[in-house]
Amino acid sequence: MTAELKEISFSLLKKLCEKVGPSGFEDEVRNIVVNEIEQYVDKLWIDAMGNVIGLKKGEGGGKVMIAAHMDEIGLMINAITSDGFLRFVPIGGWNERIVPGQRVLIRTLDGKIFRGVIGVKPPHIMKPEEAQKVLALSELFIDVGASSKDEVEKMGVTIGSVAVFDRTVERLANPDVVTGKSFDDRAGVVAMILAARMLANVKTDVDVYFVATVQEEVGLKGARAAAFSIAPDFGIAIDVTIAADVPGVAEHERFTYLGKGPAIKIMDGRAGSGVIVSPAVVKLITEVAKEEGIPYQIEVLSGGTTDASAMQIAREGIPVGVISVPTRYIHSAVEVLHLDDLVNTARLTAATVKKVNRKWIEENLRRIVK
Ligand SMILES: [Zn+2]
Repeated sequence: MTAELKEISFSLLKKLCEKVGPSGFEDEVRNIVVNEIEQYVDKLWIDAMGNVIGLKKGEGGGKVMIAAHMDEIGLMINAITSDGFLRFVPIGGWNERIVPGQRVLIRTLDGKIFRGVIGVKPPHIMKPEEAQKVLALSELFIDVGASSKDEVEKMGVTIGSVAVFDRTVERLANPDVVTGKSFDDRAGVVAMILAARMLANVKTDVDVYFVATVQEEVGLKGARAAAFSIAPDFGIAIDVTIAADVPGVAEHERFTYLGKGPAIKIMDGRAGSGVIVSPAVVKLITEVAKEEGIPYQIEVLSGGTTDASAMQIAREGIPVGVISVPTRYIHSAVEVLHLDDLVNTARLTAATVKKVNRKWIEENLRRIVK
């Protein structure tokens, strides 16, 4: 069972993460999500923002929204030099230090894909002070092998074209541990699809809305719109979280560990500015993990946040929880996760949804005092 699920999760990761889908340009990823989730839901639609929303009807009333974001960080071409190089600005949160020397995939406005590289000066000709310096994104450029602006534009690459890391998803020496780009948050999308699969032949009390959201990396925008239209009784975001269980990081700053199970979030963002998760939802998810024998970690993160932050303050306020996949090197081209954590994230999500009913919602989330 677990071995089969691990294989399915690996092939879904490969399908989803090798696509080009920065915020606002999620089309290729969206098409795959639609194909993969359609068989598990009663209704499926794409809203005006571009979110994919799949509804599995329940029998007892109440609504739960599951959100995982399809977009990834990217670059947007903002200028083409006369000698045919592309200048760019960031989409989402980039670490400048890991950008030079990368291969990228460029997507034109009409959806054509080209390969390019981010040029880097050889050490032979670097001045000592240059070797010490981190180059700003505005100092870097993409080389597509063209020799003039005209040649670039003839390819269809224009201002407004976007680019992402060019990486396939591969197994490491330990075949349960995999690497690739955009695990943030297509790993969450994989877990959501797997959870829908696990629930396919199960009757749930609540209506379950599986939402693959857009534009999370640029301000949690898709989730905000979807939460408004769905108006769920509570929401769960599935996202990656930081596993800093590597050399050079103090034990109390590691947040989560690879292979030790999905993380149940308590708080994120600087000083709690992201989300402080609803205690009743934390209690529910934790109890379900114990009942099902699913390993888990409790997560208190000091930076970054997820779609749960937007869901929580949608409409008149929506209680939220977050289930995270511990992931190393987030927002790089070599993100790393453990397939056991991915499968267990799906199991925990599915089991949590199964456990919820109208009575639990009424007793735990909104209380009438008088
Ligand atoms: Zn994310």
